[in-house]
Amino acid sequence: MQNIDAVIKILKANYKTFKKPVVTEISEERNPFKVLISCLLSLRTRDEVTGKASERLFNIADKPEELLKLSNKKIESLIYPVSFYKVKAKRIKEICNILINNYASKVPDSLEELLKLKGVGRKTAGITMTYGFNKTVSIPTDSHVHILSNRLGWVKTKAPNETEQELMKIVPKKYWHDLNDLFVAFGQNICLSVSPLCSKCPINKYCPKKGVVNSR
Ligand code: SF4
Repeated sequence: MQNIDAVIKILKANYKTFKKPVVTEISEERNPFKVLISCLLSLRTRDEVTGKASERLFNIADKPEELLKLSNKKIESLIYPVSFYKVKAKRIKEICNILINNYASKVPDSLEELLKLKGVGRKTAGITMTYGFNKTVSIPTDSHVHILSNRLGWVKTKAPNETEQELMKIVPKKYWHDLNDLFVAFGQNICLSVSPLCSKCPINKYCPKKGVVNSR
């Protein structure tokens, strides 16, 4: 995959022109708890909605003990309209309870421990490790990373978890930390899930556009 270096270099050079992913913005506070909760809120939810919901919630409560004092209804009203807001409100309280009882109110800084929390999958655990703790132990892979890696022909996979495993074999470790942030920002701004903006794409010459049916 000789174009990995070139692609990453170009994406980094263009990054400042993209709107930042909301979890990246939240991670700048270096607060793993906020990264974990906002990442849970972001599942199947647009970034603008996640950003506003996270802000409303964290303005009222941004620690496990504070969140646990809120009723499910209150959390639901703060995070609405994120998708599955009722399930997520319940899940957030369950996680807060476990953090208080099993981890001295701290988010565990281990992928294995994070994966034990109900509702936390590899992507959320990886994001929390990478951007909450600044510890890179995986390549957090969501739909943007999955789609772009396949379009670029770096992998040929059917699901994000499979993509992550394949990317970890071919992407040099020095790029693991930044890859999710770069690909999500790029996926939200240029390589859109439906009709990517190939005519404006700065990595067009490196991209075989695998699986792209309609582009602009
Ligand atoms: S050329 Fe098109 S499909 Fe390939 S990365 Fe750019 S926007 Fe995405």
